[in-house]
Amino acid sequence: MTIAPELSDRVLTELADAIGGEHVLTSKTARYNRARVPAPFPVHRWPERVPDLVVLPGSTEEVAEVVRIANAHRIPIVPRDGGTGLTDGAVPEHRGIVVDVKRLNQIKEIDLENRTCTVGTGINALKLNEVLAEHGLIYPDDPASYPCSLVGGRIGTSGWSLVGSRYGHSRDLVLSFEFVLPTGKVIHLGDGGGRKISKSSSGYQLKHLFMGHQGTLGIATEATLKLFPKPEAELSPFWAFPDYDSAYRCVGQLARAGIATFAGAVLFDEWKVDYLRRDDEAYIPQPADVRALVCAVAYGYEDEVRAGGKRLLRIAKDCGARYLGDEISQGDWAARHDRYATPLHGRTRSGQVAPMSWHCEDAAINYTELPGVRLEWHAIVERLRARFDVFDDWGMFCYTSANTGVDYLTEIDIGIWEQELGDEAWAAWVDAKREIAAVALRAGGSISACHGSCREGEVDLVPLELGGGYDVMLDVKRAVDPNNIMNPGKYGLQRAYAAERGAGA
Ligand SMILES: Cc1cc2nc3c(=O)[nH]c(=O)nc-3n(C[C@H](O)[C@H](O)[C@H](O)COP(=O)(O)OP(=O)(O)OC[C@H]3O[C@@H](n4cnc5c(N)ncnc54)[C@H](O)[C@@H]3O)c2cc1C
Repeated sequence: MTIAPELSDRVLTELADAIGGEHVLTSKTARYNRARVPAPFPVHRWPERVPDLVVLPGSTEEVAEVVRIANAHRIPIVPRDGGTGLTDGAVPEHRGIVVDVKRLNQIKEIDLENRTCTVGTGINALKLNEVLAEHGLIYPDDPASYPCSLVGGRIGTSGWSLVGSRYGHSRDLVLSFEFVLPTGKVIHLGDGGGRKISKSSSGYQLKHLFMGHQGTLGIATEATLKLFPKPEAELSPFWAFPDYDSAYRCVGQLARAGIATFAGAVLFDEWKVDYLRRDDEAYIPQPADVRALVCAVAYGYEDEVRAGGKRLLRIAKDCGARYLGDEISQGDWAARHDRYATPLHGRTRSGQVAPMSWHCEDAAINYTELPGVRLEWHAIVERLRARFDVFDDWGMFCYTSANTGVDYLTEIDIGIWEQELGDEAWAAWVDAKREIAAVALRAGGSISACHGSCREGEVDLVPLELGGGYDVMLDVKRAVDPNNIMNPGKYGLQRAYAAERGAGA
């Protein structure tokens, strides 16, 4: 599926009439800039994923008009916000039209009484919070990509927030949204029909169905978000441990303690500590006996954070932690938004520095399974590294995802020398991703806690994870998007259109 040459001029004219010619971009630069996301990919195959066109609509109506035109001509549509998604969701697998929603970046309403705001989905939480701060409010969706991911992308991925243990994640914080279906029809999705309702028992819970679909069901154009008082105080104690086991025990106890201001805790394992220590991106200069690190975070009013903080510090001390001091603690937490921006190089087996980009495999894993999963994942990367000298193990961290400590976002970071990835190394990488996903499933987890799982390798196991639920996904996809125009190729959903299910497509 791509724009047939004889249709191109007609399509361009229709799009220009709908949204203005200056918002229909055909230049190589505009198209190449929207052909990939930060996750490493085989650069020698770059041209396969370049879109035919880029459009920048300025309103819900214009988005709907673009989608109607694409649907009429059966042209693939790929929604794109910040382009920071790490599972290739915003990458055009079948070329077509990239709908870049960055012009939909207005703050339309701040409702101080009901504590909500309504925004275009092209806005980012950093910009939004600059305005909300004037009202003493905050929108606490806080991914590591905080400065560059946008509200629409957070809806498209059902993203995960670093302070989610206190405030919830994107799915909890987005109350409702305006949504353009693949036919061009505009609907409103939330709990019930209301814009600002946080809990309803009316009808199917469609809001959740239309989040995290990676742009395969339509395009969110406007969202109403939950707001909180801007926290008066922040506490982010950072502790060192002599071994992984005591750090692991500590993180579990912190999460299970039920402290109301607790917003999250993160654990860096030995591989991660080695990685941070070995290069100039080491934010945490530590003596050699430090083998694992834990950072907890608490937010709230000064007096409640102080009281909760005392308890957090006591728990950590009892687990054998060494507090690293206020300066390092605050510095590490402040680095949460740029920790990944720095490493543009890794090490070959001989220790030679090489230009590498960052890939992370993430999963949702129960607390009890973390130690086993960790060792299996490192072993997979070690085997890969032994065969191809273009991979580097940048270590693992895990992060509480809820205030009960039931499950964790668990991530292994891998440096990849993209320019040196030939077909053979890429195939081995895809196999490794499949193995990593299989470990997560064997442990009773989910393949992804935050990025989604659309990339080669991991995506193969999604039907296994979801069981009969995957068949329902196929039914929904075919019903909502009868012509398969919306981000085709993602999540293996082309199967929904195969003559016989299971035949592939
Ligand atoms: C350095 C770094 C750190 C990161 N840390 C985190 C983290 O802590 N937590 C986390 O959750 N993620 C993290 N990510 C991943 C990424 O930031 C998230 O997946 C984010 O939600 C993507 O938002 P985006 O605006 O960039 O969306 P995009 O990458 O543009 O799109 C993501 C997906 O959503 C779809 N989409 C985009 N806009 C819309 C729309 N308006 N309507 C419907 N679908 C749409 C796209 O088609 C695509 O499938 C990180 C990424 C980087 C590079």
